[in-house]
Amino acid sequence: MIDSRPSWDEYFVKITKQVSERSTCLRRKVGAILVRDKRILATGYNGAPSGIKHCYEVGCLREAQGVASGERHELCRGLHAEQNALIQAALYGVAVKGASIYCTHQPCALCAKMLINAGIVEIFYAEGYPDPLAQDLLNEAGIKLKKLSLDSSENT
Ligand SMILES: [Zn+2]
Ligand SMILES: [Zn+2]
Repeated sequence: MIDSRPSWDEYFVKITKQVSERSTCLRRKVGAILVRDKRILATGYNGAPSGIKHCYEVGCLREAQGVASGERHELCRGLHAEQNALIQAALYGVAVKGASIYCTHQPCALCAKMLINAGIVEIFYAEGYPDPLAQDLLNEAGIKLKKLSLDSSENT
């Protein structure tokens, strides 16, 4: 019998896309999941911290000031998907050392620094993000960065 199930990468990419749909960001919906030994450890999407009003409710300074993609993240009240996945793991005491992360978008430099120190060993992402510093940092840290397609049929 032929195994027609999705590959592990397809499986995790699809779930990451599903997670991103909970995003409350006005600009782009980002999802991330931490995976180890083919198990999902934690999930995250971009949005304001728990109990804090979201950008779509009170507006976002980055949007209001027309800040370019990839710049001035500190003006937004939202946390990034990768940050929320790491925080969720911390909240419940789940070790992430040696884990992989699947992201809908390539992590920014700030998330890259956090992922390096959290002991993440490889990053799979579906769409690029304009942050060359992130790529430099991840290369220097020896973390594998691999682009996967959200359209699973394109994956090789
Ligand atoms: Zn915002
Ligand atoms: Zn980020």
